[in-house]
Amino acid sequence: MTTGNKAILKLAKIQDAHIKGKSVLVRVDYNVPMDKGVITDDTRIKETIKTIKFLLDLDCRIVLMSHLGRPKGKQDPKYSLAPVAPCLEKLAGVKVHFALDCVGEAAKKTVASAKNKEIVLLENLRYHPEEEANDENFAAQLAKHAEFFVQDAFGAIHRAHASTSAIAKLLPGAIGFLVQKELEYLDKAMINPARPFVALIGGAKVSDKINVLYSLIDKVDTLMIGGGMAYTFLAAQHSNIGKSLLEQEKIREAREIILKAFKNNVEILLPADHVVVKEIKPDAAKETTQSMAIAEEWIGVDIGPRTELLFGEKIKSAKTIFWNGPVGIFETDAFSAGTKTVAKAMAEATKHGAVTILGGGDTVSALKKADVGVEQVSHCSTGGGASLEFMEGKMLPGLVALSQK
Ligand code: AMP
Repeated sequence: MTTGNKAILKLAKIQDAHIKGKSVLVRVDYNVPMDKGVITDDTRIKETIKTIKFLLDLDCRIVLMSHLGRPKGKQDPKYSLAPVAPCLEKLAGVKVHFALDCVGEAAKKTVASAKNKEIVLLENLRYHPEEEANDENFAAQLAKHAEFFVQDAFGAIHRAHASTSAIAKLLPGAIGFLVQKELEYLDKAMINPARPFVALIGGAKVSDKINVLYSLIDKVDTLMIGGGMAYTFLAAQHSNIGKSLLEQEKIREAREIILKAFKNNVEILLPADHVVVKEIKPDAAKETTQSMAIAEEWIGVDIGPRTELLFGEKIKSAKTIFWNGPVGIFETDAFSAGTKTVAKAMAEATKHGAVTILGGGDTVSALKKADVGVEQVSHCSTGGGASLEFMEGKMLPGLVALSQK
């Protein structure tokens, strides 16, 4: 598959590899949300089942490796992958052996005890500082577990770590079905989107998303900006924003983006009204502004009803939509109306044939909050950071490492 930035990367696909009966080391992203050792959302595990079933059908012995949270290079039971094993066993329908470490004797023994058509799940890679240091010796120890490497952790592909980068030099490798699906959607949107192509970027900070905004402004027909970052854009246009979130040092770049949009003939839509409060508290008295201006002592916490209509209609009339980031402090019910409207508009657009692509954990939680199922949109990316970096046009280390010369 040729993909990404662009034509530079040639990636082998798992379905083209000769791996019948072999042991295969698969990098997955099982960084699942947990509450006291109980998995609260198994989406990331389910997303890997297609690759796992494919390998089981080829009589492979599968060794899975993943990170979970940020244990900072030390063993910490809070970040153990152990609870994933029984969940995976149910979903995959085969025996899952859990190795108490990802390298060393414990790992070697567990891998050796597993038969073909069985799975070994290694303990958290990030118990070892060498993982994030992209250490070659550590990667070499991981490589000893198998004869072939499959990259299926889209959420970790923008990191140059031992299990995503160094490992690819040590074993022949390919990308799994999850990574293929992610790249197909994101690539199509960047190279040849059905038009109108509309992007909605929300969330807290301009600084996190400035690069993707620069990239999108060359590709989209309409760029909508919501959430906390919209106020810096409004301030850049000399609109009053009261006490709303502002990144003073990003005003210059916000102006540059607005100017670029003007030059490229790209429509840029900022909130035309807002839900405002004097204090960010769930029970705070709220008001809706009559215009895009926010009075002195007020804070913008959600888009207002006119903007809901405006953004909703734009989404429903588009053929390709990319959405990253909520348009309000959606975690608080009182400030979630705008984000829910956007989520529902995404589902409706999908029903009418548009390609809808969502990225970012918050965006996916927003869907749930609006009672919109992930199956009601075309593609929910499993990697917020990775999908943004891909859309920025960056070379993703996990793909570069696997690309064929
Ligand atoms: P991000 O991770 O950049 O997508 O940001 C998500 C966060 O942005 C969520 O936690 C939201 O509560 C926050 N957010 C959205 N709108 C606002 C706003 N108007 N003011 C402050 N934070 C916001």
